Amino acid sequence: MSLYQWMDARLGPADTFSVPLNVNALHYGTGVFEGIRSYATQDGAAVFRLREHLLRMKQGCEVIGIDFDMDEIGEAILAVLRANQHRDAYIRPLSFYGSGLGLDVEALQQHHWVASVPWNSHLGSAKVKLAHSPFRRNRHTSIPPLKLCGAYVNSLMAKHEATKRGFGEALFTDESGLVVECTGENVFMVKNGQITAVEHPDALGGITRRTVIELTGADSRAVSLEELREADEIFLTGTSAEIAQVGQLDQRELGPNPVTLTLRARYLGIVRGESAEHETWLTRF
Ligand code: PMP
Repeated sequence: MSLYQWMDARLGPADTFSVPLNVNALHYGTGVFEGIRSYATQDGAAVFRLREHLLRMKQGCEVIGIDFDMDEIGEAILAVLRANQHRDAYIRPLSFYGSGLGLDVEALQQHHWVASVPWNSHLGSAKVKLAHSPFRRNRHTSIPPLKLCGAYVNSLMAKHEATKRGFGEALFTDESGLVVECTGENVFMVKNGQITAVEHPDALGGITRRTVIELTGADSRAVSLEELREADEIFLTGTSAEIAQVGQLDQRELGPNPVTLTLRARYLGIVRGESAEHETWLTRF
């Protein structure tokens, strides 16, 4: 039986939704998406930091002129999760321009779609093999670091190049050797017990990154690749990756990663509703 999805105010089986091949978003990447997680908790299930994801998506929509109703999409997300009886799930809302070629999108129809799939962590507790990428990240002065569909071709190329060399993820740096982020995660390092969040204007404002800073009081600042290479521990944060330990950066092996693993366990407890103090981050359904 096909999963339930939601599109343009209708909840229905996935195979009842389709778009023609001339949708503008397919040709020019004129869409905005989010990656959101829900988790089983002792008492039902909950979406983690839903409002923050919807806010970021709204920002992305504003950049390309799509009207985005946070309440409507928020309700649609919960409706899809309930219809699918999903608990541990990955949620994908997508807002995009419909049929019509060319870059004059004002007259085009705007579509909003939501899907959920059962999900466990994409990296799990595995150690990531990270490769310094020969590609540069999209500059924020050209394309803002939001979840704009077309911008992800940049991530795809870097990931593909790293994968071909046997690595699991790619690390972007800028022309002056400062660390930016990975293709789908932000970067942190630990040195002498001190946690530092890598800050860079070209990096996505990660919600997991912000969560870790709020939890640990980590310092947020620019970090060079040279400094990162000297770290005791490196970890990546993302909704999908959660908190993932880096086991290798290019040829250098890292680990064990005690600070990362402790933080990871704390984060997994919070998303699973084990911390009353952080209940406001959960939207129960
Ligand atoms: N950077 C990029 C490029 C991403 O796609 C993601 C995943 N959304 C992240 C960082 C991590 O952001 P978040 O913690 O909000 O998922």
